[in-house]
Amino acid sequence: KNANGTYTVSFIEGDGIGVEISQAVKDIYKAANVPIEWESCDVTPLLINGRTTIPQPAVDSINKNLVALKGPLATPIGKGHQSLNLTLRRTFNLFANLRPAKSIVGFKTPYDDVDSVLIRENTEGEYSGIEHTIVPGVVQSIKLITKPASERVIKFAFEYARSVNRPEVVVVHKASIMKLSDGLFVETAKEVAKSFPDIKLGFELLDNTSLKMVSDPTKYSNLVMVMPNLYGDIMSDLASGLIGGLGLTPSGNMGDKVSIFEAVHGSAPDIAGKNMANPTALLLSSCMMLRHMSLDTYADKIETAVLKTIASGPESRTKDLKGDATTSHYTEQVIKNL
Ligand code: NAD
Repeated sequence: KNANGTYTVSFIEGDGIGVEISQAVKDIYKAANVPIEWESCDVTPLLINGRTTIPQPAVDSINKNLVALKGPLATPIGKGHQSLNLTLRRTFNLFANLRPAKSIVGFKTPYDDVDSVLIRENTEGEYSGIEHTIVPGVVQSIKLITKPASERVIKFAFEYARSVNRPEVVVVHKASIMKLSDGLFVETAKEVAKSFPDIKLGFELLDNTSLKMVSDPTKYSNLVMVMPNLYGDIMSDLASGLIGGLGLTPSGNMGDKVSIFEAVHGSAPDIAGKNMANPTALLLSSCMMLRHMSLDTYADKIETAVLKTIASGPESRTKDLKGDATTSHYTEQVIKNL
C-alpha cells in the first residue's frame, strides 16, 4: 500500500490478445476508480547459462508488489526457451493454481448452476520435465510427487475452503493404480486434515470425478477439490467448458509470498489484433486479485458490471460467446454498467 492509499500491482500485459484485453482491464479500472497503480513488467525471456530467465526488473517489481496480474504469454515452439509460464511459477514458487468455475448468468450452457473450485498442484507431478530415452523407441517420463509440495497445496486447499465457507475438501487422485505417488498425496491429505477439524475430508477417483462433473456438476458446489498437476490441468479445462469456455475462466497462481492472477486461456494468435478478444477471463481474474487484496467492494462492482453486460444480449457479447461486440464495444458497455 502506498502513502496515498493506493496499491501498486505488477502488470504483465502478455502477447497476442494480451495487449487488447489488458487495455480493457486498465480502462475499466480507471472508470471504476480502483485505487491501483499498474507497474508494467517486461518479461521478454533471457537465456542465461541455458536456462530461461525472467528479466531482473520484472522479478524485482513482482517481489516488491507481491501481487501481479498477467495476460497470456506465447510459448515459442521449438528449441531454446522453456515455457515462460513454467518459469514464472518456478521463479516465484507459485505452488497452488486456484481455478473456480461459476456459471455466468445470462449465458446459456447445458447447466445453469456450476460453482466448482479446483486447486491444482502447480510445481511437480507429471510436469516435472524429467524425461529420457531408455533405448530408441522406449522413453520414460517421471511423475514426481513429494511430501512437502503435496502438504503445502493441500494445506492451501483447507485454508481456502475455510475462507470461503465450503465445508469439505475432496482429494481427486488415482491411488488405486499409482499406489506410491498418488498414495503419498492421499496419505499427506489425511495428515494435513488433522489440523482442520472443522473441514471434512473426502476422496474421489479421477475417472469418477470426470463422470460426475459432466453429469451433475452441482455435486461440487459446496466443496473444494485438490489434485496433482496433470489431473488439475485437465479437470479445470473441463470445468471451463461447462460454463462456456476459456474466455470466461479466471485463475490465481498462489505462493507463500507472491500471487499472480491470470486468465486460463492463451494468446489466441488467430484473433490477435482484430479487436475480437473477450477480456472477461482476465477481468474475473483481476476480481479474484482484488478479493485477495481485501478490495472486495471494487471486485463486486466490476464483476456485477461484467455479468450484467454479458446477460444484456448478443450485441454486448464478443464473438466467442456468440455475440457481435468488439473488445472495445464490450469494454464500453462494462464501463456503462459499473
Ligand atoms: P488459446 O487459448 O490461445 O486459444 C484457443 C482458442 O480459444 C482459439 O481459437 C482462440 O481464438 C480462443 N480464445 C482464447 N482466449 C480467447 C479470448 N479471451 N477471447 C476469445 N477467444 C479466445 O490456446 P492456443 O492457441 O493453444 O495457444 C496459443 C499460445 O498461447 C501458445 O503459444 C501457448 O503456449 C500460449 N498459452 C499461454 C497460456 C498462458 O499464458 N497462461 C495458456 C495457454 C496457452
